[in-house]
Amino acid sequence: MSTTRRRLVALVAGITLAALTPVVAANADPTATTTESASTDSTTYQVTAATPQDRTRVANTGVDVLSVRGDQMTLIATEEQAKQLHRAGFTMTSLGSTQEQLDALTRDAGTKAGPVGTADFPSGYTGYHNYAELTAELQKAATDHPNLVRVSSIGNSYEGRSLPLVKISNNPGTDQSKPEVLFTCNQHAREHLTVEMCLRIVNRLTDNYAGNAAIKSLVDSREIWVVPTVNPDGAEYDIAAGTLRGWRKNRQPNSGSSSAGTDLNRNWGYQWGCCGGSSGSTGSETYRGASAFSAPETQRVRDFVNSRVVGGKQQITAHIDFHTYSELVLWPYGYTYNDTAPGLTADQARAFAALGEQMAGSNGYTPMQSSDLYITDGDVNDWMWGQHKIWSYTFEMYPSSGSGLNGFYPRDTVIAAQTARNDGAVDLLLSYADCVPRVIGGSC
Ligand SMILES: [Zn+2]
Repeated sequence: MSTTRRRLVALVAGITLAALTPVVAANADPTATTTESASTDSTTYQVTAATPQDRTRVANTGVDVLSVRGDQMTLIATEEQAKQLHRAGFTMTSLGSTQEQLDALTRDAGTKAGPVGTADFPSGYTGYHNYAELTAELQKAATDHPNLVRVSSIGNSYEGRSLPLVKISNNPGTDQSKPEVLFTCNQHAREHLTVEMCLRIVNRLTDNYAGNAAIKSLVDSREIWVVPTVNPDGAEYDIAAGTLRGWRKNRQPNSGSSSAGTDLNRNWGYQWGCCGGSSGSTGSETYRGASAFSAPETQRVRDFVNSRVVGGKQQITAHIDFHTYSELVLWPYGYTYNDTAPGLTADQARAFAALGEQMAGSNGYTPMQSSDLYITDGDVNDWMWGQHKIWSYTFEMYPSSGSGLNGFYPRDTVIAAQTARNDGAVDLLLSYADCVPRVIGGSC
């Protein structure tokens, strides 16, 4: 972790020059997580928080953290949350009304809102795939490459949409004895660029198989699984009004609350809700759900991964869960600041960091242990590693920073370059999937 720490400190130091020094109260408001509401009548802020502990205090108010760059957090806060942050002494700059920012995005794109329920992207964004377009594209891959691609389903979302599962292998109809790799996208609804990332993985590994010896070698020696949308209900809801809503969670109702949705990436069952890295309030954007795996979508992915234990051995060895934004490569654990913890030895932590840094070297992202940002509990990486010893990473994709929700909505013109940017990292993960500790000279 020392290299990572140095890089993070350098990043922080560079940015602190331009920032006022935050005065952090000794005691964060203990009632902070109980007063949240939805983001649309809220304000976007830039908040200075220099240490992981400070950033955890900020996140723990239940605010919607959009990005972190050095000591600068971009987040959405309700009036009450903003008061809590102010009382705690954090330096805050308003970036404006969140709803006005959303309105401006579609207004600038010249969109005409379609009838509610059409679930399509506004103009300027039509290069993104909605759910129907995604499933058609996956079927096309299977039709074009029947000897490389199988499309099935891991089950349905809360609203009954099938969660597609793509298998890529040189003999996809047979369960072969090869290292397996999993890519998941779109846990968070508004992070549409990640769906394009998973689609690129499918298309690149199959369209180039015949003509590219390196890709052929990777596909021949691995079984590759892709779940391009873990949260199709949220993604469709985000665009259903012909505008952009900034929706993050799934669409499962919460009993006794007018606020819908669970944050899927706080709903996983390893150290769920343990450590102040999620919210117990239904209105919060980081609501962890009523219990671990209370969301149908996390259940489906969990059941699929559990099903890959064959002969007592988990077949999946490596995993990337794609998110936006901030341009980061993150690894477990998220629930503790410690570099090592039960189930994570010093050598394993070194291997996580070494491969994370190699992948970051290929795409120009910033690598760090997840909790170097702030504490999260119930996230997918902690469960994949804690439960199954899968080398599990989170990529926060383009852009590196933004002034609010606009960071989730880059125009479709960036899709090609910003997904291709991760080709090298994807190939690195695939190539080490037989034995990740090999990256530090270890053995399996
Ligand atoms: Zn996300």
